[in-house]
Amino acid sequence: MKLPGVAILGSTGSIGKTALRVLARHRDRFMVRAVTAHANVALLREQVAAWAPPFVALVEGDGDAPAEWRRGAPALVEAATRPDVDVVLNAIVGAAGLDATLAALGAGKRVALANKESLVVGGALVEAAAQRGGGLIVPVDSEHSAILQCLGTRGAADVKRLIITASGGPFREWPAERVRAATVADALNHPTWAMGRKITVDSATLANKALEVIEAHFLFGLGYDQIEVVVHPQSIVHSMVEFRDGSVLAQLGVPSMELPILYALSHPERIADAGIPAFDAVQAGRLTFEAVRHDAFPCLGLGMRAGRAGGAAPAVFNGANEEAVALFLQGRVAFGAIADGVAAALDRHAGLPGGTLEALWHADAAARETVRERLGCR
Ligand code: NAD
Ligand code: MG
Repeated sequence: MKLPGVAILGSTGSIGKTALRVLARHRDRFMVRAVTAHANVALLREQVAAWAPPFVALVEGDGDAPAEWRRGAPALVEAATRPDVDVVLNAIVGAAGLDATLAALGAGKRVALANKESLVVGGALVEAAAQRGGGLIVPVDSEHSAILQCLGTRGAADVKRLIITASGGPFREWPAERVRAATVADALNHPTWAMGRKITVDSATLANKALEVIEAHFLFGLGYDQIEVVVHPQSIVHSMVEFRDGSVLAQLGVPSMELPILYALSHPERIADAGIPAFDAVQAGRLTFEAVRHDAFPCLGLGMRAGRAGGAAPAVFNGANEEAVALFLQGRVAFGAIADGVAAALDRHAGLPGGTLEALWHADAAARETVRERLGCR
């Protein structure tokens, strides 16, 4: 029997590496057919040596790569649409993942989607591509994996509310003024999850939760009034679904991406896996919940505003956030400037139309430009 082929886009990142760790336990079920990285030649070489995939691509980086490796961004689409690939794990960070998501869905692939930015920037187009090509999105994000698992065979008509949990990040208890002045080291010190730098900063501003609310809107077809965020510092309850009769189901587990990655590959089946960290209720101890402090974390409200506005507004939110986070990580702007830049971009560009890919990339570029201008980083 031919094993399902997997392409891992962003194999050198946090999700990509975790996925290869999971796949190493299931070599009898899946074949790795393609790996791609942005610029980490050394790690990509190691992965190629371990997995011998027939397709390898490096988007940027030095000339030191083997001649048979594909180069440049179009190689992502090539990897995502190969005939020997059935499942595309999109673990790229940022809007750079959108083209591959669209191409994979258009080619009828299953997309195990970690790259939530794809759905935020191009939600309607991504849905249309899946419809047209027969592709299926299965979320890797732990909250959305939890919701999918709680839903079982039930759809939007049976749901009253989604309750998305947030760890609250490293600044959960900090006064708003202190949050604004947080350093890069402070922001990268996440209490419960080890992740790439961009999403770790997004978790500190709560922009990540805004992206996840928009992601949930498109994945599960629910209105923004039906999606709530609650802070849960232990990151054990990965999210909850309230059904129309008032029953609430939750999915629990230790904070590890191994299970959501495995489930995205196997859904709706479940695969036995002795490597997934075991859950111990007594060890988990107290599970607590608290309201979001919107005064200290304005990015959540800004993103929800963008989601409700629709059109290109989510793309503006995402592009502005990516640009502001990059400037913060370069040490050029303060932590509090991230929200200022995002707010300025939304004020100026939230009304842009979003019907086509060209319109969305225009909105993305306009948002980034406004952030650089507003934050004095031209
Ligand atoms: P990361 O920075 O660790 O890895 C990103 C990967 O994408 C790398 O392999 C890099 O080479 C590649 N990449 C970066 N820019 C690229 C570009 N322009 N073109 C092509 N490839 C590029 O990030 P991560 O933490 O693994 O996150 C990846 C995605 O998964 C993000 O969308 C993030 O929001 C989402 N996600 C991550 C986690 C987590 O636990 N890390 C959890 C949920 C969702
Ligand atoms: Mg998440």
